[in-house]
Amino acid sequence: MTTGPDLDELVELVGRGGAVVLSGAGLSTDSGIPDYRGVTGALRTHSPMTWQTFTRDPQGRHRYWARSYVGWRQIGLARPNAGHHAVAALQGAGLLAGVITQNVDGLHQAAGARDVVELHGGLDRTVCLACGDVADRASLDLRLRAANPGFRPEHAADEVNPDGDVELPEEALDDFVMVDCLACGGGPLKPDVVFFGETVPPDRVQHCYELVVGARSLVVLGSSLTVMSGYRFVLRAAKEGIPVAIVNSGPTRGDEKADVRVDAPLGLVLPALASRLGR
Ligand SMILES: [Zn+2]
Repeated sequence: MTTGPDLDELVELVGRGGAVVLSGAGLSTDSGIPDYRGVTGALRTHSPMTWQTFTRDPQGRHRYWARSYVGWRQIGLARPNAGHHAVAALQGAGLLAGVITQNVDGLHQAAGARDVVELHGGLDRTVCLACGDVADRASLDLRLRAANPGFRPEHAADEVNPDGDVELPEEALDDFVMVDCLACGGGPLKPDVVFFGETVPPDRVQHCYELVVGARSLVVLGSSLTVMSGYRFVLRAAKEGIPVAIVNSGPTRGDEKADVRVDAPLGLVLPALASRLGR
């Protein structure tokens, strides 16, 4: 899909400038990071970590970190794809008024995008559940390596989950040693991401609303808009009379609100869009 009336409409809309991008998991699948819901909208077999399990079940938390210790390396190997580069190019050309992402993989920034609002946080940071200290995930990895010299799970799955963890056998989980917050000396650490069942910090949501209300268009990239966390911005834009474009493979919850709808792979559409706009 590098030509067609839908793409023409998208080119016209984004070409006006002032667009705010809202991206989702579908933008990162070409980088090897799977979408929980995929093109069919059906949940995969792996259930994502929930806020309730992480905060109330020490064993569940331990399991997450053991899996994350392995999975983080694979997330770290992921590279931005043509879609991320196209978004950065559109921003560099002055056509975007903001980039909001539901992804926690940092790939927009790796492609050169600036001032990216990470709606659901980022895997490159940790936050302490006791004192709130925010720390670098890479530093935690060094501490975990030191605490787990013999931890080499042999059955690590080759597919990493979007939360940055992988499936591991139970016996491997028992061998894993987790470390705690250095700032307060013992608080449990959480990746600085918003888990299912957790609310996005209100000031972050407010910032996104301000971006959307001030936009000339809202362009959704690679999200089925299943969760209200992202869908509410589409509702707000529609209410304000701001044109909404949705580029996604397969149907989305926002289709009836969309003025422009491109149902095609982002890896084809976005480079074509950036190219048509002369960038
Ligand atoms: Zn702490």
